[in-house]
Amino acid sequence: LLEARDVVLSFGRTQALRGAELRVAAGEILAIMGPSGSGKSTLLHCLAGILVPESGEIHFDGRRIDNLGETGRSALRRDRFGFVFQFGQLVPELSAEENVALPLLLNGVRRTKALAEARPWFDRLGLDGLEERRSGELSGGQAQRVALARGLVARPRVLFADEPTGALDTLTGEQVMDLMVSSAREQGTTVVLVTHEPRVAAYADREVIVRDGRVHALTAEAVA
Ligand code: ATP
Ligand code: MG
Repeated sequence: LLEARDVVLSFGRTQALRGAELRVAAGEILAIMGPSGSGKSTLLHCLAGILVPESGEIHFDGRRIDNLGETGRSALRRDRFGFVFQFGQLVPELSAEENVALPLLLNGVRRTKALAEARPWFDRLGLDGLEERRSGELSGGQAQRVALARGLVARPRVLFADEPTGALDTLTGEQVMDLMVSSAREQGTTVVLVTHEPRVAAYADREVIVRDGRVHALTAEAVA
């Protein structure tokens, strides 16, 4: 479904990616592990059409997307991809249900319909009664579940999650992962998950390791 071919990307003199290769199958839940600074987030941003590689190619659903231009890539992100980041990044001025409805509103769905589609997520993710809260009035775990609902509400083909449990305690993180995996499987959403917690990576179907800007299969050598 999604593929990085020989992707190279530098920030100034820092070579963040140096020939990264990755294929993600449709419906797969993939965990990207690796040390801090190894290029995990950069790779995720390239796959998601947020960053453009200096060389190499990104393919999604049978077509090349890195050369689409910003308009084409942002349309793709809006229509086909969902996102969850480490610190929820909810819009503080909006209520929880407006935050969840946001991707639908951006897709041109009318407000009443968008809010109606957002509402079942509160029950599904154990957030009943929190619909009207602002993000400042939610616990970290609640905010992250709202962010998860927002990431999935538009039924994206791919959900990109960068350290989605990084700011949570172990138990809350496991709750969020359980919900992410079950919801993604239910609607057939492919998940690309960046984490450096092995316990979180264990939720994935497959793990890869990024080291020095390259992707390695999970083997004893890569872990050492
Ligand atoms: P972490 O686990 O700490 O999140 P990571 O594996 O996600 O790390 P990246 O964020 O992909 O690492 O960064 C890879 C390299 O690129 C690092 O050396 C980092 O300092 C550098 N880098 C990333 N983003 C930028 C940027 N916007 N400007 C300059 N350098 C950057
Ligand atoms: Mg990162």
